[in-house]
Amino acid sequence: MIKTPSLREHIPKTFADIPETTAYEAGYLVTKNAGWRNVRPVIDKDKCIGCLQCYLYCPEGVIAKDGGKVKIDYDFCKGCGICKKMCKPDAIRMEAEKH
Ligand code: SF4
Ligand code: SF4
Repeated sequence: MIKTPSLREHIPKTFADIPETTAYEAGYLVTKNAGWRNVRPVIDKDKCIGCLQCYLYCPEGVIAKDGGKVKIDYDFCKGCGICKKMCKPDAIRMEAEKH
């Protein structure tokens, strides 16, 4: 009989166990699709505590781990602001796009 691993075995135990991003690497989508965005999230790296809430809740999967903090792929961010809402330390601000 095949032994099925328990769910507990899949729970990350350290920051390093969590995948770099929640989506495929940039380049998998062939067309940049953020040209219509009118505000963009900007991360204050000094305030960021690396809790990954923005990473987990971004509906586009465009936030990636970056040396204990996070970074945003602006080629695919749609500017919805969910990451800002989820950031308890208030490390994300929304800035107007300068087209
Ligand atoms: S603004 Fe929306 S799409 Fe862009 S990084 Fe934040 S949650 Fe993701
Ligand atoms: S939610 Fe805020 S503090 Fe947490 S990783 Fe994202 S930017 Fe950093």
